Amino acid sequence: MTGQETGDRKVSFGFEEVTEAEKVDRVKGVFRSVASRYDIMNDAMSGGVHRLWKHDAMNRVNPQPGERHLDVAGGTGELARAFLALADKAGARRGDARQATSIVSDINEAMLEAGKARSDNAKWEGRLSWICADGQNLPFADRSFDAVTISFGIRNFADRVAGLKEFRRVLKPGGRLAVLEFSQMTAPMLQKAYDAYSFAVIPGMGEMIAGDRASYQYLIESIRQFPDQETFRAEIEGAGFRNVSVTNYHAGIAALHFGWAV
Ligand code: SAM
Repeated sequence: MTGQETGDRKVSFGFEEVTEAEKVDRVKGVFRSVASRYDIMNDAMSGGVHRLWKHDAMNRVNPQPGERHLDVAGGTGELARAFLALADKAGARRGDARQATSIVSDINEAMLEAGKARSDNAKWEGRLSWICADGQNLPFADRSFDAVTISFGIRNFADRVAGLKEFRRVLKPGGRLAVLEFSQMTAPMLQKAYDAYSFAVIPGMGEMIAGDRASYQYLIESIRQFPDQETFRAEIEGAGFRNVSVTNYHAGIAALHFGWAV
């Protein structure tokens, strides 16, 4: 058996080099630790701006009545609920009563439990499901979804390309992929201010609000290790997606990569 098969390949966990297997374990630990305060902390760190990014990403996905949607690393389920609400709106406009469905899949049971607790489960009865699964090895049939989304999740994968290939496998031909992720700033003049805010403020905020400084130190380090927009676009294309576009938000603090399965 090769090192790669046993998960011995080295990958980054923030600024540390660890084995793939260790990264999976440590990432699980991070999100188990912050699950109950995750949504509050997101709002505090970004001043709520992450909601605008997610809203724009879901408008690009353009959910339709009757579609099947998968949100990978979906955490507390924000994108999945947005998908269903937008599909219903589109259906109401056109008088199409078919109901879209959405699956939130995440490797971490604690994040899913936090999501279920804050969802209006009666409203989404039979349309929203929660499945604990690794995004690099999805328990779904080939060509079974119209849209796959992932927000702020793929940075945490031990093997990003394996994940992208799985998204391609489960999408129907013509299906849409939207990946929202922290990215690299496109305005060098703002980089210093962004770094100062990130390194001086966020870990302390994590300690105060979520009782966990180390997890938020990992967050800011992992953002710096993530590839730039063009490198990531090439990875997505390499996994079998076409017409991959990039939309930068707030000078590249976050970026949406949107592509089509062929
Ligand atoms: N998508 C949600 C959002 O935008 O609010 C949650 C994002 S949270 C920063 C990252 C999520 O990725 C966590 O819920 C974590 O458990 C999940 N995750 C990390 N590695 C994963 C993997 N290999 N497969 C599936 N989920 C994973």
